[in-house]
Amino acid sequence: MACTEKQMDLMHKVLDNEAAEEEKQALYDHLRTCENCRRQFNELKKSVQLLRRLPRHELPLGFTQSVMMMQLPPEKTHSIKRWMGHHPLLVAAAIFLVMMSGYLFSAWSNPAFQATVDGQGHVTTQGHTVIVPKHEVIKGDLIVQNGAVKIDGRVKGNVVLINSQSLQASAGHVTGDIEQVNQIVSWIWYEIRHFFCEYL
Ligand SMILES: [Zn+2]
Repeated sequence: MACTEKQMDLMHKVLDNEAAEEEKQALYDHLRTCENCRRQFNELKKSVQLLRRLPRHELPLGFTQSVMMMQLPPEKTHSIKRWMGHHPLLVAAAIFLVMMSGYLFSAWSNPAFQATVDGQGHVTTQGHTVIVPKHEVIKGDLIVQNGAVKIDGRVKGNVVLINSQSLQASAGHVTGDIEQVNQIVSWIWYEIRHFFCEYL
Protein backbone atom coordinates (compact mmCIF):
# COMPACT_ATOMS: atom_id res chain seq x y z
CA MET A 1 0.00 0.00 0.00
CA ALA A 2 1.29 3.43 -0.89
CA CYS A 3 1.90 5.54 2.14
CA THR A 4 -0.39 8.35 2.99
CA GLU A 5 0.16 12.04 2.91
CA LYS A 6 -0.01 11.84 6.66
CA GLN A 7 3.43 10.23 6.76
CA MET A 8 4.83 12.96 4.54
CA ASP A 9 3.39 15.66 6.77
CA LEU A 10 4.89 13.96 9.77
CA MET A 11 8.33 13.83 8.12
CA HIS A 12 8.20 17.53 7.38
CA LYS A 13 7.09 18.28 10.90
CA VAL A 14 9.85 16.19 12.45
CA LEU A 15 12.52 17.71 10.21
CA ASP A 16 11.26 21.19 11.00
CA ASN A 17 11.44 20.35 14.70
CA GLU A 18 7.75 20.99 15.08
CA ALA A 19 6.57 17.51 15.92
CA ALA A 20 5.33 16.52 19.35
CA GLU A 21 7.06 13.61 21.05
CA GLU A 22 4.24 11.16 20.25
CA GLU A 23 4.19 12.26 16.61
CA LYS A 24 7.90 11.65 16.37
CA GLN A 25 7.40 8.24 17.91
CA ALA A 26 4.61 7.43 15.47
CA LEU A 27 6.81 8.34 12.53
CA TYR A 28 9.78 6.33 13.76
CA ASP A 29 7.51 3.36 14.41
CA HIS A 30 6.29 3.58 10.86
CA LEU A 31 9.80 4.00 9.43
CA ARG A 32 10.84 0.77 11.09
CA THR A 33 8.31 -1.17 9.06
CA CYS A 34 8.22 0.82 5.83
CA GLU A 35 11.28 0.86 3.65
CA ASN A 36 9.75 3.29 1.20
CA CYS A 37 9.18 5.98 3.79
CA ARG A 38 12.53 5.27 5.36
CA ARG A 39 14.30 6.01 2.11
CA GLN A 40 12.18 9.09 1.59
CA PHE A 41 12.89 10.35 5.07
CA ASN A 42 16.64 9.88 4.69
CA GLU A 43 16.62 11.78 1.43
CA LEU A 44 14.70 14.64 2.99
CA LYS A 45 17.12 14.70 5.87
CA LYS A 46 20.06 14.90 3.50
CA SER A 47 18.45 17.81 1.66
CA VAL A 48 17.98 19.71 4.87
CA GLN A 49 21.55 19.10 5.96
CA LEU A 50 22.88 20.21 2.61
CA LEU A 51 20.81 23.34 2.74
CA ARG A 52 22.19 24.20 6.15
CA ARG A 53 25.77 23.89 5.06
CA LEU A 54 25.41 25.73 1.82
CA PRO A 55 28.16 28.33 1.74
CA ARG A 56 26.71 31.80 2.03
CA HIS A 57 27.36 33.70 -1.09
CA GLU A 58 26.05 36.65 -2.96
CA LEU A 59 23.07 36.02 -5.16
CA PRO A 60 23.38 37.15 -8.75
CA LEU A 61 23.25 40.91 -9.02
CA GLY A 62 19.69 42.14 -9.11
CA PHE A 63 18.16 38.88 -7.96
CA THR A 64 16.90 40.14 -4.62
CA GLN A 65 15.70 43.32 -6.26
CA SER A 66 13.69 41.51 -8.88
CA VAL A 67 12.08 39.35 -6.20
CA MET A 68 11.19 42.42 -4.14
CA MET A 69 9.70 44.04 -7.22
CA MET A 70 7.25 41.23 -7.76
CA GLN A 71 3.80 42.54 -7.01
CA LEU A 72 1.02 40.08 -6.39
CA PRO A 73 -2.60 40.65 -5.44
CA PRO A 74 -3.12 40.18 -1.66
CA GLU A 75 -5.29 37.07 -1.94
CA LYS A 76 -2.64 35.45 -4.09
CA THR A 77 0.10 36.42 -1.65
CA HIS A 78 -1.96 34.89 1.11
CA SER A 79 -2.44 31.56 -0.62
CA ILE A 80 1.21 31.44 -1.58
CA LYS A 81 2.19 32.10 2.02
CA ARG A 82 -0.13 29.35 3.19
CA TRP A 83 1.18 26.96 0.59
CA MET A 84 4.75 27.79 1.61
CA GLY A 85 3.83 27.22 5.24
CA HIS A 86 2.63 23.76 4.36
CA HIS A 87 5.63 22.90 2.24
CA PRO A 88 8.66 24.28 4.05
CA LEU A 89 10.97 21.68 2.62
CA LEU A 90 9.82 22.24 -0.91
CA VAL A 91 10.42 25.95 -0.45
CA ALA A 92 13.83 25.14 0.99
CA ALA A 93 14.58 22.98 -2.03
CA ALA A 94 13.53 25.73 -4.41
CA ILE A 95 15.66 28.31 -2.63
CA PHE A 96 18.45 25.81 -2.61
CA LEU A 97 18.11 25.33 -6.35
CA VAL A 98 18.17 29.05 -7.03
CA MET A 99 21.13 29.67 -4.75
CA MET A 100 22.97 26.62 -5.95
CA SER A 101 22.54 27.54 -9.59
CA GLY A 102 23.79 31.03 -8.86
CA TYR A 103 26.59 29.58 -6.85
CA LEU A 104 27.56 27.12 -9.53
CA PHE A 105 27.27 29.72 -12.20
CA SER A 106 29.77 31.93 -10.40
CA ALA A 107 31.98 28.93 -9.72
CA TRP A 108 31.94 27.87 -13.33
CA SER A 109 32.21 31.27 -14.89
CA ASN A 110 35.08 32.13 -12.59
CA PRO A 111 37.74 29.48 -12.99
CA ALA A 112 40.11 31.30 -10.64
CA PHE A 113 41.65 29.52 -7.73
CA GLN A 114 40.04 30.52 -4.47
CA ALA A 115 40.09 29.33 -0.88
CA THR A 116 37.57 30.42 1.71
CA VAL A 117 37.40 29.66 5.40
CA ASP A 118 33.82 29.90 6.58
CA GLY A 119 34.64 30.13 10.26
CA GLN A 120 37.86 30.60 12.22
CA GLY A 121 41.40 29.59 11.41
CA HIS A 122 43.91 30.32 8.72
CA VAL A 123 45.38 28.48 5.77
CA THR A 124 48.42 29.00 3.61
CA THR A 125 48.63 28.57 -0.13
CA GLN A 126 51.32 27.19 -2.36
CA GLY A 127 50.48 27.79 -5.97
CA HIS A 128 46.95 26.46 -6.32
CA THR A 129 47.20 24.23 -3.26
CA VAL A 130 45.61 25.22 0.02
CA ILE A 131 47.45 23.94 3.05
CA VAL A 132 46.03 23.67 6.53
CA PRO A 133 49.28 23.88 8.50
CA LYS A 134 50.21 21.34 11.12
CA HIS A 135 48.71 22.23 14.54
CA GLU A 136 46.25 24.63 12.91
CA VAL A 137 42.59 23.95 13.65
CA ILE A 138 39.97 25.33 11.29
CA LYS A 139 36.72 25.79 13.20
CA GLY A 140 34.29 25.83 10.34
CA ASP A 141 34.15 24.86 6.71
CA LEU A 142 36.93 25.10 4.18
CA ILE A 143 35.83 25.79 0.63
CA VAL A 144 38.33 25.38 -2.17
CA GLN A 145 37.66 26.32 -5.74
CA ASN A 146 39.74 25.24 -8.74
CA GLY A 147 42.71 23.98 -6.80
CA ALA A 148 43.76 21.33 -4.34
CA VAL A 149 43.83 20.98 -0.59
CA LYS A 150 46.35 19.43 1.75
CA ILE A 151 45.31 19.10 5.36
CA ASP A 152 48.19 18.70 7.78
CA GLY A 153 46.23 20.25 10.65
CA ARG A 154 42.58 19.69 11.37
CA VAL A 155 39.28 20.89 9.99
CA LYS A 156 36.41 20.84 12.46
CA GLY A 157 33.80 21.14 9.76
CA ASN A 158 33.34 20.25 6.14
CA VAL A 159 35.72 20.53 3.27
CA VAL A 160 33.94 21.54 0.10
CA LEU A 161 35.90 21.01 -3.07
CA ILE A 162 34.61 22.81 -6.13
CA ASN A 163 36.44 21.53 -9.18
CA SER A 164 39.19 20.72 -6.74
CA GLN A 165 40.88 17.70 -5.30
CA SER A 166 42.14 16.52 -1.96
CA LEU A 167 45.77 15.43 -1.85
CA GLN A 168 45.11 13.13 1.08
CA ALA A 169 44.09 9.54 0.86
CA SER A 170 42.25 9.57 4.16
CA ALA A 171 39.79 11.98 5.71
CA GLY A 172 41.25 11.53 9.20
CA HIS A 173 41.83 15.21 9.82
CA VAL A 174 38.36 16.33 8.88
CA THR A 175 35.51 15.95 11.35
CA GLY A 176 32.86 16.79 8.76
CA ASP A 177 32.55 15.60 5.19
CA ILE A 178 34.74 16.07 2.20
CA GLU A 179 32.44 16.92 -0.63
CA GLN A 180 33.08 17.11 -4.31
CA VAL A 181 30.67 19.66 -5.61
CA ASN A 182 30.94 18.39 -9.18
CA GLN A 183 29.24 15.23 -7.97
CA ILE A 184 26.80 16.94 -5.67
CA VAL A 185 25.39 18.87 -8.58
CA SER A 186 24.01 15.85 -10.33
CA TRP A 187 22.71 14.55 -7.04
CA ILE A 188 20.92 17.82 -6.34
CA TRP A 189 19.34 17.77 -9.75
CA TYR A 190 18.10 14.32 -9.10
CA GLU A 191 16.71 15.32 -5.70
CA ILE A 192 14.97 18.41 -6.93
CA ARG A 193 13.40 16.70 -9.93
CA HIS A 194 12.30 13.99 -7.56
CA PHE A 195 10.82 16.55 -5.16
CA PHE A 196 8.84 18.35 -7.80
CA CYS A 197 7.57 15.25 -9.54
CA GLU A 198 6.43 13.79 -6.28
CA TYR A 199 4.77 16.69 -4.54
CA LEU A 200 3.46 19.04 -7.15
ZN1 LIG B 1 5.42 4.20 4.70
